[in-house]
Parts: sequence; structure tokens; C-alpha cells
Amino acid sequence: MKFRFLSLILLTGSLGAAHAQQAGKPEDTEVYEPVPAVVAPGKTPGAAPADALVLFDGKNLDQWVSTKNSGAKAGWTVAGGVFTVKKDEGNIETKRSFGNYQLHLEWRVPANITGTGQARGNSGLFLASTGKDDLGYELQILDMYQNKTYVNGMAGSLYKQAIPLANPARKPGEWQTYDVVWTAPVFGAGGALVSPAYATVFFNGVLVQNHTALTGPTQYIGKPSYAQAHGPLPIKLQAHGDKSEPLSFRNIWVRELPAAK
Ligand code: MG
Repeated sequence: MKFRFLSLILLTGSLGAAHAQQAGKPEDTEVYEPVPAVVAPGKTPGAAPADALVLFDGKNLDQWVSTKNSGAKAGWTVAGGVFTVKKDEGNIETKRSFGNYQLHLEWRVPANITGTGQARGNSGLFLASTGKDDLGYELQILDMYQNKTYVNGMAGSLYKQAIPLANPARKPGEWQTYDVVWTAPVFGAGGALVSPAYATVFFNGVLVQNHTALTGPTQYIGKPSYAQAHGPLPIKLQAHGDKSEPLSFRNIWVRELPAAK
């Protein structure tokens, strides 16, 4: 009896509190505008949605240029619906520049890969290219199947800045996916940093970077910093100088995103 009485007091109390918080009508908090744009999704998982800019559709590298020979055609090899790194041609980058975006990219380490550590299937996705060669923010690409290296240099790492949350790598010879949300850094008057870059990365569908803040463009030696303000930049792929067999890529598309509010 005593217990029932106590329950009644608690119930009355909580109803009173709920009432106080929910004055007004349900309609008061229902929003109708702006209406999100209709986007036809890709026909299969990983396929480009209707509003994406396709950066490689299996046919040519028309959306890409060489970074070694400024503005020249990207000289990597296109065959069988994929393209393959040609190391002596150097890095390639997109003709277009991007601020914030969503990107899908597929990569494959060849089945006959040799080498160890960083010299085994090394490439890289520079989320924004801040200059020639390896300047930019690098999401590492590397054979991570039973291959040991420093953990902040694994595939899925933001190179030398952020260790991936997991290692979902597939075997050499199998296609792997990166799905990235890139938030570009914001600079204010005089080049002062207002907001750092952020990257969210799914590697083969597994979250490996969760809105990770970057401390600046990748540095191979020393600590990164936002020394140079920049706006929208190209996306770049790395022809790494190691001696192992070159990687291939396919199905690359990007969706530009509005600036954060
Ligand atoms: Mg690399």
C-alpha cells in the first residue's frame, strides 16, 4: 500500500514536469522548408548518385592532370575499366578544386604485391592538394593485409596524424573502398585559422576516422601546422616512390557540400 502511494506521487510529479516542457502544439516544432533536394541514388551500393561529379567512370582520365608537369595530361594507364599508377609519371590531381565534399573511391593492391611496411602497396589520397608532389592532407593507401608498419601510417590513417579506429583491409587483389566526408579548413582575415579541417572516413564500410580534426597538411618529418591559408583545392592521388607493384583505382565520384554554418 505504501509502495503504491509512493508510485502515485512519482507519476504525478513526472507528468507535471513533462507538461511544463511541452507547452504549445506539436506543429510548433514541425519544419517544412527548405525542402531537401531530390537525389536519385546510385543503382547499386557504391555507384554514383545523380548529383555526383564522376571523376573516373572506367573510360579516361579527362578529369585529372599531372602534378609533375603542370597542367599536362595525367599519364597513368587506363585499361579494362580501371586505371593504374605509372610511377615515373608522378602524382595526378583533379582539374577541379573542391571545398567541402563527399567522395567515393575504390583501390586495389595487386595480388602479386611484394615489399614490406611502407614499401608495400603505398599510394595515397590527398584530400586537398596544397602543392606539387606530396603536399596536402594525405589519407594513406597501403597494403594492410598482414603487413606491419607504424599505426599512424596504416591504410585509413590520416598520415602521421590520426590512427584508424580499425583495420578492415581486404587481401591484395581485392577491391577496397574509401568513403570520405571532407570539411575544408576555414581561414579568416590575415590567414588566421578559424576552423581546422575534419575528415570522416569509412574503409570498406567500416568507420576508421570519425570527424577527426587535422592539425595541418601532412608532414613526413616534423609537426604539421596551418602555416598557409588556402581555399578550395584539387584532390590528388600519389605515385609513391617505393619499388612495389603499382596500385589500381576505379569508380571515383565526388559530391560538393555546402560550407558549414
Ligand atoms: Mg602514401
